[in-house]
Amino acid sequence: MIPFNKPFKTGKELEYIADAIASGKISGNGKYTKLCQTFFEEKYGFKKCLLTNSCTDALEMAAILLNIEPGDEVIMPSYTFVSTANAFVLRGAKIRFVDSLPDHPAMDVSLIEELITPRTKAIVVVHYAGVACKMDQIMEIADRHQLFVVEDAAQAIDNYFIDSNGQKKALGSIGHMATFSFHDTKNIISGEGGMLVVSDPDLLDRAEIIWEKGTNRTAFFRGEVAKYSWVDIGSSFLPSEITAAFLWAQLEHMDHIQQTRINIWEKYKEGLKLLVQTGQIKTCSIPDYSTNNAHLFYIDCFTLERRDHIIKELKSRGVWAVFHYLSLHSSEFYTSCHDGRILGNSDHFSNCLLRLPLFVDLEKEDQDLVIDSLISILPK
Ligand SMILES: *Cc1c(COP(=O)(O)O)cnc(C)c1O
Repeated sequence: MIPFNKPFKTGKELEYIADAIASGKISGNGKYTKLCQTFFEEKYGFKKCLLTNSCTDALEMAAILLNIEPGDEVIMPSYTFVSTANAFVLRGAKIRFVDSLPDHPAMDVSLIEELITPRTKAIVVVHYAGVACKMDQIMEIADRHQLFVVEDAAQAIDNYFIDSNGQKKALGSIGHMATFSFHDTKNIISGEGGMLVVSDPDLLDRAEIIWEKGTNRTAFFRGEVAKYSWVDIGSSFLPSEITAAFLWAQLEHMDHIQQTRINIWEKYKEGLKLLVQTGQIKTCSIPDYSTNNAHLFYIDCFTLERRDHIIKELKSRGVWAVFHYLSLHSSEFYTSCHDGRILGNSDHFSNCLLRLPLFVDLEKEDQDLVIDSLISILPK
């Protein structure tokens, strides 16, 4: 069976983990945490990076940092992972879900403004498949209404928004904050893992405090305060050095990982071109305002029945393909809180999108089998 995903190991993980253990400091915010955070700050110009145990953690930190309170409203796409919404619901927010674009799962920016009310606090954008959202328009709307923007960049590592002047801006550096994931289904992994990026200078100090259980311990270690104490709310958001050591091995090999994934992505695009031209499927595409980090490759099967059929036929040929994201506005938990608007494009992607195997160790012959299987399954 060709798996859907296989976590990539660079070969250096155990060496760095052994080094972390030998150093005598295994808890968080040590040498490997600093190496990873500095890597991101230098490579992408992120103002401040804090490693977390997950992207979910980072989203929860963002919600605390924005002082989300019961009754506050947060705008985000419905077609996303649970944590994007759950982090804000935990603090009492009401979510106003936005539909996807007709031809891409990302949220339709033209629908945002009509959802803004005096209670709106933030817009959470999700760079689905790593593809940039129209960040210039989103930041303009947010500025005009004085809203915060959080980028859920869980899938968007090493990717860029291209503005109207052709300037590249790293995803994660544009909103007031951003969150990344190193879950083992993402491009760069540490098993479980994540990161909060803080760009708004007013949020920097408090982010460190929330990260360290509501204490000013980080400032204490820098020698800025004489003793550390409880100064705010927070939680245990920082990962151990074992996780950070694993992540450091991955970051050192980032160029190889990214290039290999892009090659696989492009081979799918090319290999499935004929099926697209004859109208059998659509494949994911990259708009001119985004670069491609090859986080995932999907096909649009057009109907739920067709997708079920394709999954079954792929399985019988030894290929494991999966779908994801049931629209959050119609989820069991949130449907009674949703305002009733029909979000047809989001539902379309919930029913029709199928992800193909994409991982660094995917063999050429195996990818050929995925492509040939699809060609043989779909009627001429
Ligand atoms: C993976 C993912 C998350 C959650 O990441 P974890 O690190 O597993 O918490 C959140 N949002 C999006 C868009 C994701 O793809």
